[in-house]
Amino acid sequence: METPAQDRTAIVTGASRGIGRAIAVALGAAGGRVVVNYNSNKAAADDCAAEIEQSGGQAMTVQADIGTAEGRRRLVGDAVGRFGAIDLLVNNAGIAPKVRADLLETAEQSFDELLAINLKGPFFLTQAIAKQMIEHRSEISPGVIPVIINISSVSAYAASVNRGEYCISKAGVAMMTQLFAARLAEHSIHVYEIRPGITATDMTGPVKAKYDKMIFEEGLLPLRRWGQPEDVAKAVMALAGGALPYSTGQVIDVDGGFHIRRL
Ligand code: NAP
Repeated sequence: METPAQDRTAIVTGASRGIGRAIAVALGAAGGRVVVNYNSNKAAADDCAAEIEQSGGQAMTVQADIGTAEGRRRLVGDAVGRFGAIDLLVNNAGIAPKVRADLLETAEQSFDELLAINLKGPFFLTQAIAKQMIEHRSEISPGVIPVIINISSVSAYAASVNRGEYCISKAGVAMMTQLFAARLAEHSIHVYEIRPGITATDMTGPVKAKYDKMIFEEGLLPLRRWGQPEDVAKAVMALAGGALPYSTGQVIDVDGGFHIRRL
C-alpha cells in the first residue's frame, strides 16, 4: 500500500547536515511533517527547517543529544507534543571517531562515545518510538504503515582496523534492525536498514583525497562516483512510501555496488 509523504510525520535524527538533512528535505518537499533533530549546530538545523517550510512541508527543530536518555526523552516529548503520533523514525545521527586509531590503540573513551551515539542512542530511541507507535496506533492515518529506518554503513561488515569502534557500532545497528523488525512485525511496524557507502558529507571531508584515489583510480566501486546524501534520501522515500510492503528487516545497500565481491 502506498503512503504519500504528506501523510508522514517523521523524526529524522542528525538532520542539520549531510545525509540526515537530505532525508528531512526530501520528506518536507513531499509535504511531510518533519522533526529536524540536531546536536550542536543550531544554525544548520534552522536552515534545514526553513528549506522544508519553503518547499511546502512542516518542520520543527529539536536540539537533543541522542546519546543521552534526557536528550531522547525531550526529542520524543517535543515531537509528539507538536505533531502528535510519529509514524516514521529515521535513525540517522552518527559520528566517526575523532582519531582514526589503529585497533591496538583504540581509546576506551572513543569506544564508549561511538557506541553511545551510534548504537545505544538509536536502540533506546527506537524502543521509545515503537511504544509510542503502538500506543497511538489509532491516531496514525489508516493505511499508513509505521516505519523505522536505521542508517548504518558498509562498515557494518567491512573491517576498517583504524576505526574499529565505528564498525562495531554499525554492526550493532544491523542486528538491532533484525531484532526490532522481528519484534514489531506483530504490530505491523516495518523496520529497515539502509547501508550507505562512501558519501560526500562533512564526515568524509577529512578523507576525501584518500577516497577520491580509491574510487577514481583504483576501481573500488563498480559505480565510479561518490555517493550523495540525496541517494540515501531516495531510498528512504521509497521505503517510507511503502515500496516494500511485504518486507521487513531488509537491508538496502546504497553504496555504488561496494558490497559485490569481485574477482
Ligand atoms: P555528518 O555530515 O557528520 O552529519 C552528522 C549529523 O548527525 C549532524 O546533523 C549532527 O548534528 C548529527 N549528530 C551528531 N552527533 C549527534 C548526537 N549526539 N545527537 C544528535 N545528533 C547528532 O554525517 P553524515 O555523513 O551525514 O552521516 C549520517 C549517518 O550516515 C551517520 O550515522 C553515519 O555513520 C552514516 N554514514 C555515513 C557515511 C558517509 O560516507 N558519509 C557512510 C555510511 C554511513 P550537528 O550538526 O548538530 O553536529
